[in-house]
Amino acid sequence: MYVIQFIQYHQVNLSGHIFSLGPVTHCLSPPLCHNSIYLGCTLSQSFNPDFHHSPVIKMGWLHKTPPQGTLVFQKRWVMLDAQYLRYFQNEKEVYSKRIIAILSVTKVLNVGGQKFEVVTRNRTFLFRAENNTVREEWVSVLKETIQQHCNSMEKSLMNSSDTRGQRASRVSLISKQGYLEMSGLRSKLYVVICADSVFLYRNAEEHSQGVGITSIEMNLGTVKGTDKRSFNLTTIYRTFSFVAESEQQREQWVEVLQACVSHSLSSNAVAQKIWSEEANQRCADCGAPHPDWASVNLCVVLCKCCAGVHRGLGQSVSKVRSLKMDENAWTENQLFLLLGNDKVNLFWAANIPPSEMLCPSSDSEERQRFVTAKYCQGKYRCYHALFGQQEALNKALCNTIQTGDVLETLSLVFCGADVNCYTGDPELPSPVSVAQHYGQTLQVEFLTHNHNTGRSNETKAALPISHTGYLFKTASSTRAVTEHFSRRWCSLNQGNFSYYESEKSSSQSGQMKMSDVLCLVVNPQGKHGYGHSFELYHDSGRVYLFGEDSPDTVREWIKVIGKALVPPVAEDLVGWSFERVGRLRYTVGQSFHCPCLGWFSLGGSRLLLLLHGEDQVDNIDLRKLQELFTQGYSETSGAVVLVDRGRRLRLEGDRRPDYQGWLSGIQQGLGRGDGPLDQQQLTETEVPVIVDRCISYITQHGLKSEGIYRRCGVNSKIAALLLSLRHDARQVRLSEGVCQVDNVANVLKRFLREVGEGVFNGHQASLPWLHTTSDERRERVSQYKALLHSLPPVNRATLGAVINHLYCVQCFADENQMNMHNLAIVFGPTLFQTDGTDNSAGQVVEELIQNYQDIFNVSGSAVSAEELVCEVLRRGNIPPQQGDYWSCFLVNDNQEMERPLHYQERALAIYFSLGKDCHLVVKRNCYMEAMLIYIAAMVDVSRNSMIKFSDEKGQRGKRTFSRRLCVLDGTSLRLYKEVKVTEDGRRMCSTQPERECQVHALKVYYGIKKRLQPPSCWGMTVVCEQAERDKQQWYLCCESKNELIKWLATFMNLQVVSFCVTETYSTFLTCCITVMCSLSLLLMD
Ligand SMILES: [Zn+2]
Repeated sequence: MYVIQFIQYHQVNLSGHIFSLGPVTHCLSPPLCHNSIYLGCTLSQSFNPDFHHSPVIKMGWLHKTPPQGTLVFQKRWVMLDAQYLRYFQNEKEVYSKRIIAILSVTKVLNVGGQKFEVVTRNRTFLFRAENNTVREEWVSVLKETIQQHCNSMEKSLMNSSDTRGQRASRVSLISKQGYLEMSGLRSKLYVVICADSVFLYRNAEEHSQGVGITSIEMNLGTVKGTDKRSFNLTTIYRTFSFVAESEQQREQWVEVLQACVSHSLSSNAVAQKIWSEEANQRCADCGAPHPDWASVNLCVVLCKCCAGVHRGLGQSVSKVRSLKMDENAWTENQLFLLLGNDKVNLFWAANIPPSEMLCPSSDSEERQRFVTAKYCQGKYRCYHALFGQQEALNKALCNTIQTGDVLETLSLVFCGADVNCYTGDPELPSPVSVAQHYGQTLQVEFLTHNHNTGRSNETKAALPISHTGYLFKTASSTRAVTEHFSRRWCSLNQGNFSYYESEKSSSQSGQMKMSDVLCLVVNPQGKHGYGHSFELYHDSGRVYLFGEDSPDTVREWIKVIGKALVPPVAEDLVGWSFERVGRLRYTVGQSFHCPCLGWFSLGGSRLLLLLHGEDQVDNIDLRKLQELFTQGYSETSGAVVLVDRGRRLRLEGDRRPDYQGWLSGIQQGLGRGDGPLDQQQLTETEVPVIVDRCISYITQHGLKSEGIYRRCGVNSKIAALLLSLRHDARQVRLSEGVCQVDNVANVLKRFLREVGEGVFNGHQASLPWLHTTSDERRERVSQYKALLHSLPPVNRATLGAVINHLYCVQCFADENQMNMHNLAIVFGPTLFQTDGTDNSAGQVVEELIQNYQDIFNVSGSAVSAEELVCEVLRRGNIPPQQGDYWSCFLVNDNQEMERPLHYQERALAIYFSLGKDCHLVVKRNCYMEAMLIYIAAMVDVSRNSMIKFSDEKGQRGKRTFSRRLCVLDGTSLRLYKEVKVTEDGRRMCSTQPERECQVHALKVYYGIKKRLQPPSCWGMTVVCEQAERDKQQWYLCCESKNELIKWLATFMNLQVVSFCVTETYSTFLTCCITVMCSLSLLLMD
């Protein structure tokens, strides 16, 4: 029980990770934020996740010197909130010229002449106020804000209940950062996506200094790819056009930004309000419950499926909004409360034949048909009496909008009344102005939303996707495609793909419904004789091949066919350079039964998927799959199982030829050992599995091995091991053995030395590392930092992991003889892939190790036991469960005892200080639940009862346990030898305790070593360290488990209370329970 090491848990090689946890970024950072190295603006927000809602503390005009430092002052509108000081060109600007994180402000100084300085670590901003009073106001409010910021940070650090929020925000805030070109600017910007905002900096340096240009709140943003490498970020105020370094990068940016938008919209307040009208609790079209979308101009509340169809109709027909949107963005509340789905449907759905009714389970085709008929054609509406009489309709409209009858207005407008008609009154010429005049705000709102909707073409079919043109086509076939192409006029319209002999032919030579197409495959260039070609896999099992030499023609076809193929909510599936898109049957988890139909698109290492009933496209990075295997694969049927982040997804193939393509596509995307770093199999933290495996192994078995990384190992074994790791690193289990350590060490070196482009991303990119310009250490460090940031994510993560590892190795230099310098000599040429004649490579690596914490921005041994537990469980994919309490135990093999670390204890520091008999083990704390129950019912936080006691100084080597009265209260633990029991049952004890120890100096371990022959198995070992020399170990043995739990609970209770002595008892208890819950994993979810 005691000798369990990490590795024995869950068969995941956790040991290495845990060990390297301390100074490592790659361990604590979650997958999303492998690159959240800088804490600059991150930290400032981590204590207030709602930072973008931070109210303005002070704003006003100030004069400011321009950055060049000339003394010409410029008038700027300055705004301060709890997190940032910003200044703007003028008071109407939405986007600041400068944004300064309060966190980075070190002081605020008065400097004569109505001036004051805001000093950050690297820069000083000089402001001048109108007069001294205004100056004083600014200075004092700034100082106060900075102080409060510090306080809140301190409080968060102290306050146990905040540790979770703090951690959670630290791990999730920055989701992407890097350089992007922005149109209209000559130089690139450093862009950071952080929580719900996008921050723009001139460069990475600025980011680390906490001084940026501006922030863009994403809660009202939309993101759209525009060209290969470019995309637009549109807010209600303006559009920002960016160009990424590569197409792939653009994909990533767009994806992360979209996640950022949807995250920022996850407010439920609006939905709750709108659902308070009962009729709005069901979708206006299909009746599905809890509809959380709405069409603001048609005035209907919709489910996500119907909303998807609405969106497909275009803005001119239906303006779709999420109810999950920020409350402030929703002005339509009242309109929806006044009208409600039922009343509005009295108009829109007055005459629906039962056969055409929609229900929540209707398929997308039915939905499409119904929604188009309902809103585009007005097929089911209740015709207004004036229908067809334009003038009368317009007149009626002008009258109705003076009243509160919005429903009548809706009926008029959607029966033909012109929202923009002339009212006849030159003072109030438009219907909107009339409604405004009469104070009918809801009417104004309704009219505004329908201002530019194209009512006139309402009878026109609304399917937006249509495309025509010539393509070369082969005869369809069921097998390998023949290459006899003929030129055909092709047309995609209303979900039908048809082709003709020529443009002029009136009868088609063939047709297929897009709904019968299973899969669209984009062929590699040049395949099948044409420059560009694609295939359509039909439900019948037939395959159609189309080709053209012009890339643009084919790209356009692929785009429109892709769009027509997938449901509107799945549009993201086709908005990138995919290789295949289509539908597959799948199951999730262990079940084989009742597969659902899902939509997938695949390209390179990315598999995008939209599972049944979801409205968000999900993303699997195939390089990071935990497992992939096929089941029952044969010519006729088979399935491929992907295990991703603990989720098991089984994709089913059947007889059709499309499955095989999916399978081989997925297998190719898994990552290959002979590719560059970013094509390798990766861990969650973007480190190649090969590197991770080797580092874990050395960490576990080789840290103290003399000459590690310098000894050469057995060449044949190294080659064989590297070969098998390159083939499939995940499948390789490194076995233990004496020589093995050196072999593995050499595998790591050889891999790094040979990997394509190397860790520094090619020879060219590695040069600036080798030729940093400054002589000063501090400046070189910041140059390294900037260079680190310019590395692609996988390279950055890999370098971080390797340097971290070397940092750990040199911690054991006394034993392994490998200090920083020795390691650098070995790893310099390895990492830079040089021949070693130039020693600058070694120097750089040495400096990287030396300044590891600074460059990689990791805070040493600050990892708490709690963080460690969370990390281990995350890595082991162990979901938190109610009543499950996990702790990190310090286990002492020799003494056969263990104790759960206090959640705040610094696990890494402890780990490094452990002797060879000790381990840290993360495991369930089986006493915790019982202890919590006991504590909850406790009236008095002290305990006294008889207990069996022994200590190290037994007589003649034979230790005996004898009865003592043991008293434990808020100050100390005392043991009394002589006890008398009075007649009324009270225990009287001698005035002098035999043993005494202050509570804060106690460490309580579970268990007593067997050699001492404890009288029961319910023992504790109490280590008392009152003074350096006076370290005592006492053994206390209880008679029952129940008794033991009571003692342990009291100890824990008292030791936790020492953190908040002055609190009242009840607060203390709450605090106590919170603390223990954080020990447990309740806070994980
Ligand atoms: Zn619906």
